[in-house]
Amino acid sequence: MKLYFTFLSITFLFFSAHAQSYQKLHNKAIVVDTHNDILTTCLEHGYSFDQYLGGKTHSDLQRFGEGGIDVQIFSIWCDGKQLNPFSYANRQIDTLYATAARNPGKMRIVKTYSELLKAVHEKKLAAMIGVEGGHMIENDINKLDSLYKRGARYMTLTWNNSSPWATSAMEETKDSLLHQPKGLNEFGKKIVRHMNELGMLVDLSHVGDQTFWDAMGTTTKPVLASHSCVYNLCPAFRNLKDDQIKAIGKNGGVIHLNFFSGFLDSTYNKKEKDFLKKHEEERDSLLKKNPEPFFANKYLSDKYKDEVESMKAPFHLLFDHLDYIVKLIGVDHVGLGSDYDGINSTPQQLNGVIDFPLITKELLARGYSKKNIRKILGGNFLRLLKANE
Ligand SMILES: [Zn+2]
Repeated sequence: MKLYFTFLSITFLFFSAHAQSYQKLHNKAIVVDTHNDILTTCLEHGYSFDQYLGGKTHSDLQRFGEGGIDVQIFSIWCDGKQLNPFSYANRQIDTLYATAARNPGKMRIVKTYSELLKAVHEKKLAAMIGVEGGHMIENDINKLDSLYKRGARYMTLTWNNSSPWATSAMEETKDSLLHQPKGLNEFGKKIVRHMNELGMLVDLSHVGDQTFWDAMGTTTKPVLASHSCVYNLCPAFRNLKDDQIKAIGKNGGVIHLNFFSGFLDSTYNKKEKDFLKKHEEERDSLLKKNPEPFFANKYLSDKYKDEVESMKAPFHLLFDHLDYIVKLIGVDHVGLGSDYDGINSTPQQLNGVIDFPLITKELLARGYSKKNIRKILGGNFLRLLKANE
């Protein structure tokens, strides 16, 4: 009996030591998330993310801290239907600056590698700006310069909509949507070269295959995929194929994994289709009010929480995608780009920014060394940022 209790207490000690070690490692590492859409969510709902938004969103300032996130890149986004995307982008950037000004002790907008390190050492959230969609510069290189001056440090060449100079994955894979030759035109290549000169990361999440290869043939600096997963594990329209992953490895770039169930789990699409079929009537009436499917889908997923919960991608899949990339091109080319507050289905257990420490725990359980875990959590992104400056 005594032996039994000794065994129990050793087991307890082992597990509590394990719990401490992953939490300690997580806290000490510089944790970077390269994609979060909370700014858009705030503008849509009239929220501020320096309020506590638990139960409403995936993220807020308090929960970034609780999740151990040191560097958050905030996505500046609007769809292709906005009439003045550049001024919309500036409104979102204004919101971020206003939030930072209200919370000088908790966060700071950073534009360089050294500013980032300084903010992290002062235990402030280092907030960075990423522009999601080349359409936001309105075909004007001066507007690209202007966004750079305000702090934008990456630009996704397209969102789901193409820009006149770059075609998106969504449009390249659907002939009915495509109204221009695939890939980057001459102006698009000029944009990529200009981003290289500025030190603005070229983000290839969302772009079509042809745009991807044209950009890879043009860039002289390592690229970023700020929120993408592996096509071979889940053939979603904008996940990365093996030859693309290998090209990013060769270029010294980094792929940051998206947490969206539909990009991780190849069975998710069918489950979602069945769900939408079941609620078709309600969805149709929502689409009449706002034809952008994202909003109708979000409304339904909020309303039918239990059904949506059962559709979530299994937790292990995020790490299967990660292992896949590591096996293909090595541990120096992978990171995290959650897409929190831009997705309507997260993996099980990863319900919001607060759950980031579970990632470190799982990486340890999968046998990654502490050194490699620090790379995945943020070290690889820091190297990429420095290489682009
Ligand atoms: Zn996106």
